Amino acid sequence: MSTDTHPFQTEVRQLLDIVIHAFYSDRELFIRELVSNASDALEKLRLKQLTGAAVYEPERELRISITTDEEKNTLTIADSGIGMTRDEVVEYLGTIAHSGTKKFLEAIKESDGKGDLIGQFGVGFYSSFMAAKEVEVITRSWEPDAAPVKWVSDGQDGYTLSEAPADTKRGTEIIIHLKEEDKEFAQPYRVRHILTRYSNFISFPIDFDGEHLNTVQAIWAKSKSDVKPEEYDEFYQFIAHTETKPLSYMHFSADAPIALNALLFVPETNPENTGFGRCESNVSLYCRRVLIDAKPEGLLPEWLRFLSGVVDSEDLPLNISREMLQDSSIIRKINGIITKRFLKHLEKIAKDDTEKYAEFYAQFSRFLKEGIVTTWEHKEALGKLLRFESTFTDAGQLTSFEEYVSRMKEDQKAIYVLNGPSRAQLENSPYLDALKARGYEVAFLTDNGDQFVIDALSSFDGKPIKAVDRADLDLPEIEGDKETGLDETQSTGLQEWLETLYKGKFEKITLGKRVVSSPAIALQGSDDMGPEVRAYMKAMGQ
Ligand code: ADP
Ligand code: MG
Repeated sequence: MSTDTHPFQTEVRQLLDIVIHAFYSDRELFIRELVSNASDALEKLRLKQLTGAAVYEPERELRISITTDEEKNTLTIADSGIGMTRDEVVEYLGTIAHSGTKKFLEAIKESDGKGDLIGQFGVGFYSSFMAAKEVEVITRSWEPDAAPVKWVSDGQDGYTLSEAPADTKRGTEIIIHLKEEDKEFAQPYRVRHILTRYSNFISFPIDFDGEHLNTVQAIWAKSKSDVKPEEYDEFYQFIAHTETKPLSYMHFSADAPIALNALLFVPETNPENTGFGRCESNVSLYCRRVLIDAKPEGLLPEWLRFLSGVVDSEDLPLNISREMLQDSSIIRKINGIITKRFLKHLEKIAKDDTEKYAEFYAQFSRFLKEGIVTTWEHKEALGKLLRFESTFTDAGQLTSFEEYVSRMKEDQKAIYVLNGPSRAQLENSPYLDALKARGYEVAFLTDNGDQFVIDALSSFDGKPIKAVDRADLDLPEIEGDKETGLDETQSTGLQEWLETLYKGKFEKITLGKRVVSSPAIALQGSDDMGPEVRAYMKAMGQ
């Protein structure tokens, strides 16, 4: 049996030099990389079989088996996948064959320090040298007459190739001989933990130290019709570590402009109502069922942080994923697509199941409002989702801006709202008089901060939204408007007297047509705003 020695391509040597000095926290990633390679190899074999190719050992089960050996200080990852021929081994495990690693090297050259680039890129097979002093690869290709090959390297200058035993089974076995300081990766407990973190949703069975590792089905990758409602509940309970059921879930896939599978859950209750402060998004990013980032920044807007779930995009190839994450345009695109879909999802619930929407709204309206105030995108869609009571609804009954607009009077130019602590208080407000007299509806906004929401929204369906306690209402005249019961001299006299009386307290005093049932009201200048002003008005008994 002959053994040939081969030098690594220069770039591989450069890469290995970097990999060997990897950050400690990145080291565990090599397991993710090798398991993904095993899964890829199995997927490729399945495809060969599907297309009717005659593969070696057609009956052999498609699975991954991982074993630890603390005595020998090894970790072995084996699969029954596509395997490699001798030529393929030379090409794939001796050169830099894929673009992701090339990009990684370019980025390294550009950055002065090493930075956390390995964690950001994932460097595929070569990452095994983060923890290995020697790597052995024994592989047999799917091709019926291929010869089994053994590849061995210490990650320095090159590798050796020799024949592997003739009875080598189809697939690839990778034996990692761990460095002394990395022996933790031969500890079953540690490895199991890493596997369940990164490789929980691999679609092929994984045996770990002879036992089946309970991987969870990646139901997001299935078509909706193949998933039962209780499977969604179970999946949610698994990823959210809860025993409650989700209030709602959204499962969708898209092909263009980005290939996406997403499964998002709304929890039963608002996690920020428990008094533990701001919650953190629990939506993780996967690439073909392999975890890329459990907390990807910018994947969803902040105001959707109450969601749990998974976003999986094939357009984030594993080993360049983090680099593409940095090139935030793809993340921004995913963010836009998912947010839009989720808003549509809510709109659909609002339309089809008002009761359920009310339940959602009671818990999560704050987040929708935050969305309106903090971002300019999706404002119209968010505005559609707002609910409130109004002068036209019974107490406790909610309506929307859409419904409001459908009820608007012909001469009505704006949507009118009034802010205050409760419906009961607002119902008696003298601000309503002029609107009531014209048959206009007024929306009651009773949430803290609603004024900011309205200011940010500013219009709906092309109609300005106006607070009725502002001065610029511009209402059409109606009969009875001018009947103050005073003649001109009396009017002027009253106005002058009031002006002296309230000097400095009000910007101006006019005798107007706004009030029907009260003698006077305080109005806010159309431009001024701010809680101080409001508080001041309130303190003056409006
Ligand atoms: P990538 O997976 O992105 O292609 P890697 O560095 O992880 O990059 O792997 C390089 C190549 O080596 C793979 O594309 C594949 O052709 C080959 N390879 C690695 N592991 C296996 C395996 N377990 N079975 C078959 N081929 C493999
Ligand atoms: Mg890979």
